[in-house]
Amino acid sequence: MAEEKEINILVEKSFQEAKNFSAIEKIKKKYLEKGGLISQLFQQISQERDLEKKKKLGGLINNWKNELSAKVKEIEAKIKEQKQTAELEKDRVDIYLEGIKIPLANLHPITQITQKIYDLFLPLGYQIAESPEIETEDYNFNKLNMPPEHPARDMHDTFYLDTNLLLRTHTSNTQIRVMENNPNQELKIITAGKVYRRDEDDATHTHQFTQIEGFVVGRNISFSHLKGTLELVLKKLFGENHPIRFRPSYFPFTEPSVEVDAQCPPCQGQGCNICKKTG
Ligand SMILES: [Zn+2]
Repeated sequence: MAEEKEINILVEKSFQEAKNFSAIEKIKKKYLEKGGLISQLFQQISQERDLEKKKKLGGLINNWKNELSAKVKEIEAKIKEQKQTAELEKDRVDIYLEGIKIPLANLHPITQITQKIYDLFLPLGYQIAESPEIETEDYNFNKLNMPPEHPARDMHDTFYLDTNLLLRTHTSNTQIRVMENNPNQELKIITAGKVYRRDEDDATHTHQFTQIEGFVVGRNISFSHLKGTLELVLKKLFGENHPIRFRPSYFPFTEPSVEVDAQCPPCQGQGCNICKKTG
């Protein structure tokens, strides 16, 4: 018949063994499962005639069973957690991993030249204005005195988004928008931006390009102001002695009109592919 001392030794031993996580299945089998030591001891105790002793030993074994079961559950949970962590670790992606460094670049050449031109116009008292690239027919054509039958309208083959909306074919929509917002006021406006025309893309054409446009509304403003401003800006851009040329030209929407040429810098007037041999 089992004695209290022996049982205590077994209890101690079982908890010692449980320190080794990998022995957990063995421990369950050896102590807790059907036919294990604990059920064997219960079997023995049931034969005990001394009721006091039976009760005491029974309680002792019962406590052991409960505590060891709890210990086993605790260990099993820990093992499960370790497995899950290992599984997660396997798939872990370090989101703080340093990426490929992209070296800082310059501003786009179009941005650079736009800023340069703005810098030339601002000291002359011009203000910068912007307007939408997606525009209505009204602002792109009608309000610029280009009704549907106007010849200027034939010059642009336009990207229509629907029957009314289109990608602006010039920056002149800015003129209308600024004037509408500032009725009866003197204005000096410079604007730059993307414009779109249905051109076949080749070495010298694209369906999108950048236009820079200035306009002045005021008293006693004459053609000579236009000429003087263009001369000043071109000289600042190309150099004081750079050859430029004004020639009369017909534009259906402005009267009088003029066309301005600057000598082609790469070929210095000799004619090359950039200037299409015009110098
Ligand atoms: Zn050239």
